[in-house]
Amino acid sequence: MKTAVLITIGDEILSGNTVDTNSNFIATQLKDIGIKVLSVFTIPDDEQAIVSTLGKALEMADVVFTTGGLGPTKDDITKKAYAKFFQDDLIFSDEVYEHLRAYLEKRDRLWILEHNKEQAVVLSKASVFMNYFGTAPCMMVEKNGKYCFSLPGVPFEVKPFLKDQIIPFLQEKLELQHIVSRIVSVVNIPESILSETIEDWELALPEHISLSYLPVGTRVKLRLTASGSSQEMLNQSLENEITKLFPLIGENIVATHEDKIEKILSGLLIDKKLTLSVSESCTGGELAHLITSVAGSSKYFFGGIVTYATDKKIDILNVNPETVEEFTVVSEQVASEMAVGCQALFKTDISVSTTGVAGPGKGEDGKDIGTVYYTIRIGEEEVTSKLFLPHLERTDFMHFVSQKVLQDIV
Ligand code: ATP
Ligand code: MG
Repeated sequence: MKTAVLITIGDEILSGNTVDTNSNFIATQLKDIGIKVLSVFTIPDDEQAIVSTLGKALEMADVVFTTGGLGPTKDDITKKAYAKFFQDDLIFSDEVYEHLRAYLEKRDRLWILEHNKEQAVVLSKASVFMNYFGTAPCMMVEKNGKYCFSLPGVPFEVKPFLKDQIIPFLQEKLELQHIVSRIVSVVNIPESILSETIEDWELALPEHISLSYLPVGTRVKLRLTASGSSQEMLNQSLENEITKLFPLIGENIVATHEDKIEKILSGLLIDKKLTLSVSESCTGGELAHLITSVAGSSKYFFGGIVTYATDKKIDILNVNPETVEEFTVVSEQVASEMAVGCQALFKTDISVSTTGVAGPGKGEDGKDIGTVYYTIRIGEEEVTSKLFLPHLERTDFMHFVSQKVLQDIV
């Protein structure tokens, strides 16, 4: 198996000001073509540190990536360190300069060309991958059959470099097998029963396909991974195996591709021609945000309302003040009345409500932080559930609750 080492360069990563998302992205891309990441080094913008880490990394792995430090500012010294390590000269490339000029011209930013001229300077031995989303090109140096890539730090530049240029390059150069994955999302069946139900199917899977179970909330994702030389053949064989699952657990399958829960829900609601509305308190609009982040959600989502103040739950959603008095606002009964009120307001098949204490501090009526009630009302039927999430920070809390509610609707 081919291997890689990732080197993240930047003082801002070490100081904690920037979270290293590049390594995460690069690692997942490499995994998909069967390259194993052995290690991730995070080092400062320091020439000596870069030189010595490049040495270590190229001893360990077949492919090395560095990210960061390619900008035109003084603190960006990756190129100089590369020149030192590979004992190469930095030369001005007319081709890169022309690409940079055209890139800036298109964006009406030609005036910074002279300031960014330095970015047309590359190692004489390097192959250059042009940057279509920024100004710093990627340099690739080959040494003893190993490949070392120098990428900029900006994540939205790193992504297309990998997807469009570097992954196809490595696949060809290293004659890598293709790896293709599919996710089948299964609901309303516990993992243990699921595995018994599909045991014979699993045992009969061809050798080039492997299966893993990934439980997420109330869903179980089945990940099928196939490896082989032809991508087309792999796609076809995965499709065949997934088709065989339907007679076994067809009614539990909600998606056969990797999708977010809001996307899966969208497919189901459109399919069943059902409409949806939400009334939120402790999720503060996140439910509506997730639902409307899916293109085409206007087909089934009529609207949402955030009634944060208790009075507004009463005024707008018709929650009975006596219910609040008797059971407190964070209660099963209020969640239920909110859902009823929301359904009446928006006239939808399905309505959802959330009420809870996100913290910090206790809720007005002494309910513990992290207590949540949510109701899912479909037609005349409804189910109210309770969650207790005292350990989550506010925004994580809102996100968790929203995800859980969407999963339960599915
Ligand atoms: P620039 O031309 O912008 O200077 P650069 O190649 O010099 O690009 P850096 O200066 O290291 O890259 O980083 C540019 C931006 O990208 C910064 O906002 C930084 O926080 C972000 N960034 C750098 N490295 C990472 C990383 N590993 N993960 C996520 N973001 C990063
Ligand atoms: Mg920089």
